[in-house]
Amino acid sequence: MKRILVTGGAGFVGSHLCERLINEGNEVVCMDNFFTGSKQKVIHLLDNHNFELIRHDVTMPYFIEVDEIYNLACPASPVHYQHNAIKTIKTSVMGAINVLGIAKRTGAKILQASTSEVYGDPAIHPQTEDYWGNVNPIGNRSCYDEGKRCAESLFVNYNIQNQVRVKIIRIFNTYGPRMEKNDGRVVSNFIVQALKGEDITIFGDGNQTRSFQYVDDLVEGMIRMMATGDDFTGPVNIGNPVEFSMLELAENVIALTGSKSKIIHLPLPQDDPMKRKPDISLAKEKLDGWEPKIHLKEGLSKTIEYFKSIL
Ligand code: NAD
Ligand code: UDP
Repeated sequence: MKRILVTGGAGFVGSHLCERLINEGNEVVCMDNFFTGSKQKVIHLLDNHNFELIRHDVTMPYFIEVDEIYNLACPASPVHYQHNAIKTIKTSVMGAINVLGIAKRTGAKILQASTSEVYGDPAIHPQTEDYWGNVNPIGNRSCYDEGKRCAESLFVNYNIQNQVRVKIIRIFNTYGPRMEKNDGRVVSNFIVQALKGEDITIFGDGNQTRSFQYVDDLVEGMIRMMATGDDFTGPVNIGNPVEFSMLELAENVIALTGSKSKIIHLPLPQDDPMKRKPDISLAKEKLDGWEPKIHLKEGLSKTIEYFKSIL
């Protein structure tokens, strides 16, 4: 049995990861400041004696003895991470320093939940890990993008200078049950709008693309990454390479919900990446043939059922 710290464990992805780690017989310490997460997301785990929920802000030092750390603490939706941009940078940068400090002291393996946003509005397509990205360092997404890029640098340098056993994954757009209805990201927005019969808000002309991964596929990739040998630090892309435009996503959601909602167009936010699709060759090679298993229609159906149950 391992003791595992999951920061941001009461968030969307974190709650699925905690559940999987508990089901595999580990002891899990879930640390969260409940900015975008909530106790509700892990309420089904609270009775388990191997699960502990701690209210703590990752920007403050924390002392614990653990075998592994998954560092997920950071708001992920543009609406939420832009709400307090300075706090977002502190969460990524000071958070990384604090958890890397725990890993250095205890010898724990540590995984960073980085993001496809490190590629910015990418000039190469699909994105491979050796691409350095096209990020506006002073734009309104920079608090997230540059915070995550700095965290990657911290992880790599703790590995080189202090031999900390680090793992970096770059997560591409992920969706599924337990997203907040006001999360602000596109999949939950469209599903909530369709179920309520409200207008579906496409930003811009809707020809921009994303590649959507169901949360279970991500969690499988995270666990496999943590299990790799110490010589493999990543970064490695974890995402579903099947690309959709926002118009196609809206049409899928309307068809699957049978909604009468109309599509409307709103202005495209600043620096919104025009296309995004992971090259997952490295993940397949290093993570034992890992690849996403859940097709968009199947994942959307499961997510729609979830939102029907909470709306
Ligand atoms: P989320 O907002 O649901 O979860 C983030 C969690 O971190 C929340 O529970 C929040 O309360 C917590 N948190 C935020 N600031 C904190 C702080 N200072 N101290 C402690 N806890 C804090 O988002 P998510 O989609 O679950 O994302 C989880 C991680 O994965 C994030 O690091 C995100 O950047 C990364 N990621 C997610 C996606 C995606 O599509 N879901 C894509 C790329 C990267
Ligand atoms: N988007 C949209 N309508 C919405 C929310 C988002 O058209 O209600 C678009 C957004 O402009 C972007 C894409 O959907 O082009 C994905 O946005 P999201 O915030 O989910 O993630 P990210 O931009 O970080 O990939």
